[in-house]
Amino acid sequence: MASSPFIIVAIDGGAASGKSSSSRTLSERFNLLHVDTGSFYRAITAELLRRGVKAADLAGVRAALADLRLGTLVEGRSARMQLGGRIAGDEIRSGEVNDHVSHFAAIPEVRTALLAYQRGQADVARERGFRGLVMEGRDIGSVIFPDATFRFFLHADPGERARRRANEGQQDSIAERDRIDSSRKTAPLACPPGAVSIDSTHLTLAEVVEQMARPIAERLTT
Ligand code: C5P
Repeated sequence: MASSPFIIVAIDGGAASGKSSSSRTLSERFNLLHVDTGSFYRAITAELLRRGVKAADLAGVRAALADLRLGTLVEGRSARMQLGGRIAGDEIRSGEVNDHVSHFAAIPEVRTALLAYQRGQADVARERGFRGLVMEGRDIGSVIFPDATFRFFLHADPGERARRRANEGQQDSIAERDRIDSSRKTAPLACPPGAVSIDSTHLTLAEVVEQMARPIAERLTT
């Protein structure tokens, strides 16, 4: 019998649209490496802020990027970014990082610095014996893996998304981040042509996961 194919699942969407919960659930169900690319942008933002680099200081950003040593540690089914051998901690979810991350993520050099690293997560998944990877972000189905086996785009009403964040006890300016992420010139947040668009406003997590899991399960058994 042929061995099952290596699959790539791309999940994009705005802040608090349900990407993390659904991708984590899919990673468990199908033994996929879970890659949260928002955590990569957050880790780099925290590091640049720690070094006192501002997003408006392009020369400073370039110099800091050239000096970053990126690695990956796999913890359970999750890929964690290492910066200079160190794993970023809770500071990547701080209010300060929430406020700055979209400004750094709009800089083309920052996105370029992460491009090969993100694509390389497929090799990490293969080396570790996963059946594939599920990667969540803003430009996964459009830029990082436009040929992904499955591409999903999650929407939800802004009010519902704000309520979800508040329930997590997080202070997060999601409307402002979405505005910056959607209007930037490089790799803006948008549903790419051909991706499956899911409105999660009135759906439970289980219902969202079901819509994604059905075609994946079919693919893995044929
Ligand atoms: O997913 P999360 O909300 O943690 O992402 C934090 C920020 O990182 C986003 O608001 C966006 O500015 C940036 N990001 C991005 N491209 C990705 C993932 C995240 O620009 N693929």
